[in-house]
Amino acid sequence: MDVVWAQSRYDKGETEAEQKAYLNCPMTKDQYEAFIDALLAADKTEFHEGETAGYFDGCLPIEVMAERGRETLRFGPMKPIGLTNAHDPENKPYAVVQLRRDNALGTLFNIVGFQTKMKYGAQTEVFKMIPGLENASFARLGGIHRNTFMNSPTLLDHEMRLRQRPNIRFAGQVTGVEGYVESAAMGLLAARFAIAELTGETLPPAPQTTAMGALVTHITGGAEAKTFQPMNVNFGLFPPVEGLKGGRRGRKDRYQAYTDRAKEDWRNWLAASSVVPA
Ligand SMILES: Cc1cc2nc3c(=O)[nH]c(=O)nc-3n(C[C@H](O)[C@H](O)[C@H](O)COP(=O)(O)OP(=O)(O)OC[C@H]3O[C@@H](n4cnc5c(N)ncnc54)[C@H](O)[C@@H]3O)c2cc1C
Repeated sequence: MDVVWAQSRYDKGETEAEQKAYLNCPMTKDQYEAFIDALLAADKTEFHEGETAGYFDGCLPIEVMAERGRETLRFGPMKPIGLTNAHDPENKPYAVVQLRRDNALGTLFNIVGFQTKMKYGAQTEVFKMIPGLENASFARLGGIHRNTFMNSPTLLDHEMRLRQRPNIRFAGQVTGVEGYVESAAMGLLAARFAIAELTGETLPPAPQTTAMGALVTHITGGAEAKTFQPMNVNFGLFPPVEGLKGGRRGRKDRYQAYTDRAKEDWRNWLAASSVVPA
């Protein structure tokens, strides 16, 4: 703790606990360069025959980021912005590795944004180079995960039914969404459509102006089928609200306008179903 300090980026959070939710490990330029060299040189897990990796941009392995450019990590998960070294406030760290508490006891921490396919031995060696972690013990090492998903733009209709076999519905990550909330949301929609069908109702498509509707519209038709990859929900999937200011300054109003429009359209959509209560 005489090397690292507790602080959330930009002191974000309401309570002191939230404002100090992360431990920060600072690196000098030399330490960063040595870390990148070690990442690039480390032993990596090989893929099985016939397997290829099309990485999801939201969680690239750190060594893949380092291969894309020595500075990539410093502008990604190791960015030093919004943080002040409590032990040395005058000197801005060149890079920072953040640790997030993983259990209530405060005995486990995970490294934020550090997916990796380095072999286990290499991981402990490389991660001990992080200032403050020289004597860390590693309770669980990292691995990349494979996301198995179908080509929903060609296979599913807007009610998440298999076009060729409409008695079968798909939901969740397998439909080509990524994340807890997204997967659960696709389950909720698939269920609403299924219940409507069973009770003889016809629901209109989920409105694209809402988060769930934007996502389901994307995976079941809006996305480019040839290059289809799992998608998180994001404002880029929504049809634009016309006549709003652009740039950073207009952002708050823009988000508000999207949200207001979504709530209104969602309410109307829910009202269209008499069987499933809103
Ligand atoms: C290491 C890791 C970290 C992640 N981190 C995050 C994160 O920080 N934030 C986030 O939002 N998302 C994260 N995700 C993604 C998130 O976990 C998934 O998007 C989400 O859990 C998918 O939910 P799901 O119910 O659609 O699928 P799953 O949770 O994969 O559920 C599918 C279930 O089906 C079962 N199953 C499979 N085949 C069969 C079969 N033939 N018969 C019966 N059962 C079967 C499986 O055992 C499993 O229980 C992470 C994923 C991983 C692997």
